[in-house]
Amino acid sequence: MTESVYIHIPFCRQKCRYCSFVSFARPELIENYLDALAKEIKHFYKDEKLKTLYLGGGTPSILDVKQIEKILGVLNFDSQTEATMELNPEHLTTEYLKQIRSLGINRLSIGCQSFDEKILETIGRKHTPEDVENTVEFAFDAGFGNVSLDFIYGLPNQTIESFASDLEHAKALGVQHISLYGLKIEEGCYFYNHPPDNIADDDLQADMYLKAIKILSDFDHYEISNFAKEGFYSRHNLNYWNNEHYYGFGTAAHGYENNTRYSNQTNLKDYISNPLKKFEHYVLPQEQLEEEIFLGFRRKTGINFNFLNKKFNINFEKKYSKILDKYIRTGHIEKTDCGCKLTVDGILVSNMILSEFLE
Ligand code: SF4
Repeated sequence: MTESVYIHIPFCRQKCRYCSFVSFARPELIENYLDALAKEIKHFYKDEKLKTLYLGGGTPSILDVKQIEKILGVLNFDSQTEATMELNPEHLTTEYLKQIRSLGINRLSIGCQSFDEKILETIGRKHTPEDVENTVEFAFDAGFGNVSLDFIYGLPNQTIESFASDLEHAKALGVQHISLYGLKIEEGCYFYNHPPDNIADDDLQADMYLKAIKILSDFDHYEISNFAKEGFYSRHNLNYWNNEHYYGFGTAAHGYENNTRYSNQTNLKDYISNPLKKFEHYVLPQEQLEEEIFLGFRRKTGINFNFLNKKFNINFEKKYSKILDKYIRTGHIEKTDCGCKLTVDGILVSNMILSEFLE
């Protein structure tokens, strides 16, 4: 049974310079896109009552209330469902957020990235720090009690001090959840062909991350990139990290059902003309195990030996004894009551450690 849905809204007012997500400044295609999306959902969705629902992008808040209602109208969910919508803090009002809330959205994830006006300008964001403050205030006024802010560290000209002050600022606003991402310049974004000056190297990014852990010590660091007040973990994202199934709808969306991972077409016009086309990949048991290890090590709780032993009919500790012994000795992995997890030192070199679990 699949009880989580991700829906991709691939429209933005403009392209941020660091962004290589699938998103387009093509508002004239929104209506056609929503028709295609409805067709896809109606075809694949089996009307399961949803535990989580996530409208991501792109910029879902580029849609008006009627358009959001059209998407949500074909889904089976209620107030017990965690229903998240990503927002860009541009041109939003309390009234808009109230209406979104009345449609059943109960969690907001706001793209802040930085509170430094110059940095926001350099990276091509169109909002100001005040827009973020106002949006958080409007969200609380509209009745949202579960609000997350996203930040990027390692941005051009960003210092540890300015990043630290961003996080203090976020805390002062009273949000319940904070997500942090290290800047990665990937093919397809503006910065890839026009590299900015003064971006952080790996060591500085690591120092920024360590600083964040200290500043956010009153939040639960429940996943490598995510911090939450108690009871405010992202249930939708935990579903990914627990390697559970989910639907993915919309251009470039990914889904996972019946041990098959699939992705949708990334070309907007191709998707609109055939939203039912999916590229599928059946995940073999060894791949499933490796995915489970990769995802499990992202969580604060780490991986559970008994769970994996039963699910994959293995003796995990025996199968991976060399890797576990080595990294427990170096202090990168530590034992828990029922398994093991990465330490903070381990998180900093997690790519290297996790690659050793691949067969
Ligand atoms: S970072 Fe977000 S808002 Fe900026 S272009 Fe990418 S998807 Fe759109």
